[in-house]
Amino acid sequence: MPLIHLLPKLEKDFSAFEFMPATEFRWSPDEMTIYYDEQVHDDPTLLHELAHAILDHKDYLKDIGLIELERDAWEYAHSTLAPRYGIVIEEAIVQDSLDTYRDWLHARSTCPQCGATGLQIKKSDYKCIACSTLWHVNDARFCALRRYIKK
Ligand SMILES: [Zn+2]
Ligand SMILES: [Zn+2]
Repeated sequence: MPLIHLLPKLEKDFSAFEFMPATEFRWSPDEMTIYYDEQVHDDPTLLHELAHAILDHKDYLKDIGLIELERDAWEYAHSTLAPRYGIVIEEAIVQDSLDTYRDWLHARSTCPQCGATGLQIKKSDYKCIACSTLWHVNDARFCALRRYIKK
């Protein structure tokens, strides 16, 4: 079922949320809006974004919390939404997506000075437990980490 068929159904069934075309897939809790990449037919990711919305995913305090929200959203999309709309979400898609977040977390938490693993002390700050170096990381949003291959 291509996106063009799925989307009107989701808009009808979940009218509490806005669905807006964009250049990426993203859930915005502040705007109650699911953005979707209109150039890509990616039903699994669309359902994943909807899962963030239904599960009321908002902010997270630590980077590790973002990975938990990502995992929960995939789980809900896989077990609840996909069967309802007759869509198959391959386990490999889920694992690839979560791997992206694990790589991202690893990159953020690695000390730029000595390579040890740092502790996240604030939303955008890490501190090395080995050499006490402090470093700053940028904000990350839901799902914006994924890079899509345009079809
Ligand atoms: Zn260090
Ligand atoms: Zn997500």
